[in-house]
Amino acid sequence: KMKSSRSSLTYFTEDMKESSRDFFEIEMNLRKGLELNQFTLYYQPQISAVNGQIEGFEALVRWNHPEIGLVPPNVFIPLAESTGFIVPLGEWIIKESIKKLQELHHNGMEEMIISVNISPRQFIHENLPHVIEHTLEQYEVSPDKLCLEITESVAMEENKLVIERLNLFSEKGIQISVDDFGTGFSAFVYLQEYPVNEIKIDREFIRLLTQNKKSEALVKTIIDLAENLDLSVIAEGVETKEQLSILRDLGCQRFQGYLISKPIPSEELNMWMNSFEF
Ligand code: C2E
Ligand code: CA
Ligand code: CA
Ligand code: CA
Repeated sequence: KMKSSRSSLTYFTEDMKESSRDFFEIEMNLRKGLELNQFTLYYQPQISAVNGQIEGFEALVRWNHPEIGLVPPNVFIPLAESTGFIVPLGEWIIKESIKKLQELHHNGMEEMIISVNISPRQFIHENLPHVIEHTLEQYEVSPDKLCLEITESVAMEENKLVIERLNLFSEKGIQISVDDFGTGFSAFVYLQEYPVNEIKIDREFIRLLTQNKKSEALVKTIIDLAENLDLSVIAEGVETKEQLSILRDLGCQRFQGYLISKPIPSEELNMWMNSFEF
């Protein structure tokens, strides 16, 4: 192997794009990784912009690779999505998240919600409703404490199936959030068609908030839209007090971001909550 100052992660991602041999090798390693328990969930707090309380967490997956270390999801989720590995991995993520919900509820935080990212392929997979319902029953967690984050791209897959499924989840009381809102094309069209509970303003809008007045107008429009459609709204990627203050003025109800905390390893979550003050 060549010596270089670049990290092994860079090689890892480049390999993945360039060589199909490595592609299959990584796919094999992913599957082995799931068997060997190398995946782990981090949790990022979601905070009320009104009273500063913790309202829930977003579950974010990482791959703890024995040689490379912690691999971020942007590196392997697209690959997992294209090979179908996202289905077994996604099931593991759902189970872990619901187990965590049970733990939180047992520790006296009965209202705590966990948001789980569901990728398009996973969303339309036939087993998803069964896996979710079965796991909720198994851990005796109320469906309204689970929130599924979907992106606009799911809408472009199989429209009929997606609506059917959203209706099913919504009848069960499971919450639906539209992630990265505003970055796709059809956002406004499907909001009238799909039963969703929440829209999540994409980080990019938040990043630009303090840089120009236009993005403030855009964020205000999204927040007003949510209000008019009776949806809740959450901002992601809030890094500064200034951003939070603008969001509050615009009527944003909830937020998450480095201002409060980076995603926290599962086993450190209790400690973090005990020392949280805002
Ligand atoms: P996302 O769902 O939009 O998640 C938000 C990403 O922004 C996370 O990156 C989070 O760590 C990061 N973030 C949170 N607060 C801040 C902030 O204040 N500033 C900045 N710069 N970044 C912030 P992460 O964990 O690396 O995840 C990246 C993407 O990978 C996610 O984007 C999501 O699309 C996907 N992903 C993560 N976990 C899962 C999962 O369990 N299942 C699926 N299907 N996709 C996942
Ligand atoms: Ca998300
Ligand atoms: Ca997002
Ligand atoms: Ca995003």
